[in-house]
Amino acid sequence: MRTSKEIIEKTEKYGAHNYHSKEVVFATASGVHVTDPEGNTYFDMLSAYSALNFGHRHPEIVAAAKEQLDAVTLTSRAFHNNLLCDFYESLCSLTGKNMILPMNTGAEAVETALKTARRWGAFVKGVEDGKQEIIVCNNNFHGRTISIISMSSDPTCRRGFGPFTPGFINIDYGSIDQLKAAITPNTVAFLMEPIQGEAGIIIPPEGFMKKSSEICKENNILLIADEVQTGFARTGKMFASEWEDVVPDIYVLGKALGGGIMPVSAVAADSDILGVYEPGSHGSTFGGNPLACAVSIKAMELLVRDNYPKMAFEKGEYFMSHLREIKNPDIKEIRGRGLLIGMEFHVPAAPYVKALIKNGVLAKETHEMTIRFAPPITISYEEMDTALAGIRRALTKES
Ligand SMILES: *Cc1c(COP(=O)(O)O)cnc(C)c1O
Repeated sequence: MRTSKEIIEKTEKYGAHNYHSKEVVFATASGVHVTDPEGNTYFDMLSAYSALNFGHRHPEIVAAAKEQLDAVTLTSRAFHNNLLCDFYESLCSLTGKNMILPMNTGAEAVETALKTARRWGAFVKGVEDGKQEIIVCNNNFHGRTISIISMSSDPTCRRGFGPFTPGFINIDYGSIDQLKAAITPNTVAFLMEPIQGEAGIIIPPEGFMKKSSEICKENNILLIADEVQTGFARTGKMFASEWEDVVPDIYVLGKALGGGIMPVSAVAADSDILGVYEPGSHGSTFGGNPLACAVSIKAMELLVRDNYPKMAFEKGEYFMSHLREIKNPDIKEIRGRGLLIGMEFHVPAAPYVKALIKNGVLAKETHEMTIRFAPPITISYEEMDTALAGIRRALTKES
């Protein structure tokens, strides 16, 4: 049998080095547990950046996928399939919007939202085509395409990739004054993450999203919430926008929408916005495929049936309160909502991540000083206790 070391070496030999993966190989996984080729088991506290809200291989989602494998998996949008309408209906019901555009990855959904906002600006608002402006936030993370990195303020994501897509104006996350100042007659949208995940679990100042939403309304600007990471119960609400009672004009969704099995993403909005498309103006070969629909429909059913938002909220409170009991002067702050939790250190977090992995807890630093804890929402209280014991050992140098 191949060892982890052999697998990692082969991976590094043939693959482009656009990731520096932690030295743990997933060979099998179930629920919150991951097992490597040597048989060591770990708690997955990253959940593929919240794509695994249902845990690894949720039995009902796997069953839905297996059943669909025996029916039809791919049609392309050249033809209809018998499940896309139900996927639309479920997602409309969850978001309260009346129109959906399906894609695959989060980045594609973000791109779709940008295109939608630009078209809406040109066709509905009356901005001259080519002059549309979209306001975005510093330290955002929206994906990796050239237009998306054109909005990024992170030099690591941008270096060597120019020329960039014009039409984006950056403001500081949380600054209402800068938002107001950035608005021009050509502004069509304000794009934001309700909580900045990749930036280090940054929760904006209270009222920022609410106030942004009001300003957008007053100025006939679309509010686009990138809920790819925060959506589908992760933060203790179905969508993190609800923390400020905000209903964005456009939801950008992905990650957990695929039930941990398939890349499934979508934009949800009302038809006065998503109605700007005509046949041929946008699309995706795999977007809305029946296998993705089957998996996603089951995932959305579970979210409601098992009340994932409540689960995430209560388990998050429990988890955070126990993290706060850990005594280590290097810990600066523990913050989060639901099961999207950041532990910020006064020092670089990488050595602590290493200690966590040694103690059977998989987590990863984001932006050097912060460790994200975001286990599957299905984690049990017993599993949380065991994981917390490992975290305590790793962070108090008992190990
Ligand atoms: C992960 C993420 C994306 C990009 O999703 P991909 O599926 O990796 O393309 C976009 N926005 C946010 C907030 C994310 O966390």
